[in-house]
Amino acid sequence: MDDTPFGDDSLHEECGVFGIFKRTDAAALTTLGLHALQHRGQEAAGIVSFDGSQFHVERHAGLIGDTFTKQAVLERLPGSSAIGHTRYATTGGGGLRNVQPFFAELSAGGFAVAHNGNITNAMTVQRELQRRGSIFSSTSDTETILHLVATSAARLFVEKLVDALTRLEGAFSLVGLSSKKMVGVRDPLGIRPLVLGDLEGSPILASETCALDIIGADFVRDIEPGEMVVISDDGIESIFPFQARRARFCIFEYVYFARPDSTVEGRNVYEIRKKIGGELARESHPEADLVVPVPDSGVPAAIGYAQESNLPFELGIIRNHYVGRTFIQPTDSIRHMGVKLKHNANRRMLEGKRVILVDDSIVRGTTSQKIVQMVREAGATEVHMRIASPPTRASCFYGVDTPEKAKLLASRMTVEEMADFIKVDSLAFLSIDGLYRATDEPSRNKMAPQFCDACFTGDYPTSLTDQEGVENVRPLTLLGGAG
Ligand code: AMP
Repeated sequence: MDDTPFGDDSLHEECGVFGIFKRTDAAALTTLGLHALQHRGQEAAGIVSFDGSQFHVERHAGLIGDTFTKQAVLERLPGSSAIGHTRYATTGGGGLRNVQPFFAELSAGGFAVAHNGNITNAMTVQRELQRRGSIFSSTSDTETILHLVATSAARLFVEKLVDALTRLEGAFSLVGLSSKKMVGVRDPLGIRPLVLGDLEGSPILASETCALDIIGADFVRDIEPGEMVVISDDGIESIFPFQARRARFCIFEYVYFARPDSTVEGRNVYEIRKKIGGELARESHPEADLVVPVPDSGVPAAIGYAQESNLPFELGIIRNHYVGRTFIQPTDSIRHMGVKLKHNANRRMLEGKRVILVDDSIVRGTTSQKIVQMVREAGATEVHMRIASPPTRASCFYGVDTPEKAKLLASRMTVEEMADFIKVDSLAFLSIDGLYRATDEPSRNKMAPQFCDACFTGDYPTSLTDQEGVENVRPLTLLGGAG
């Protein structure tokens, strides 16, 4: 049996990207930036630097702090410009050959690219390229970008990149590095975040603002959906090469994925999570003695919930910080163990109490089951579970690792059945409109949703060509004309 959440070799990655242009210690600063983005991917990381004449590439499995902080590794990354990537890909993802950034010597010169998001027609385009003779060394959708750039008939490097990206659908926030330029791009819907920063005149690109904070850089602005910024010695040029579309930023970034101290798309993530908790309390507020968060992801929502419901907030569950995110464990059996390793009940707080547990989401239900059992064993008399997002019913194909639909608890059970399954006295999820209200939208605009909320609604804002098996990419005419 295949243990991969998607049951295949395709990559569904969670990632963080970082880039810095013309600054001493570029690789060391990139290491720090990636360290701040570690929550976006813990499996492997890579940095490509450029020293004015040559590119240098280092890619390693493991955490940034265990690999790139080594002096010898940093010494192999000289130069004043660098881009980096940290990633978590599902098992079967092919090991180091799939670790980014990808680098290739093209006819136009060296080019490195690091990408956050998932391209939903990458396999289809890849098959097309392979038929025309391209040889792929990985199964990563990011390599497809390199091949499209390599084979583009456009003249200038930026035009080649635009040409490549207009053939792709799905989510991409990427940073690229050539010998003269650093580029940052967001897909037309702006599904994944990307920000522009500045460190004493040196431009920076990063997935989240927390990566700017760690090196004392200033936040300049978000890269706009559909925008490409081209950074060179001549300054920063902004172009909008794609057909304009209504933006659909990923709402799950606010629920879980982004770091709470980051500001994404003009909103502070921590504040949104607290507002989510407040909305949740307004929607559903059982009689209880205290509010307990499932650490760490449930904490800001639980604070908001407790404030709104005027109930005491207590850390009734303590987390061991030396264990990675539960989800990151590659097999189901280890995932079960992971939960036990990670959390412990704070018995004194729970004994004899009616407890409202707050978590951000239920995916497979494994975490909730274990946590509820633990809280009951610690003497809680009632356990009410409140979830700070709507039921996760559909897989994400845009760069958040969710399992295939069949493994999502909410795709096969009603809320009542889920309550039985995790053995709580009551269970309630935030409504989709409640979630939108927390982001200061009046409600979800059904005709034109303001966010990508596909994991909750199944409403995917792009075609999913690879999933559908439909080869409907436009013909690659620039590859020589054959259809
Ligand atoms: P589960 O045990 O499968 O229901 O996992 C639910 C827990 O995983 C929640 O407490 C979330 O904090 C966390 N979670 C939700 N989505 C993700 C994700 N894409 N990657 C890692 N962890 C996640």
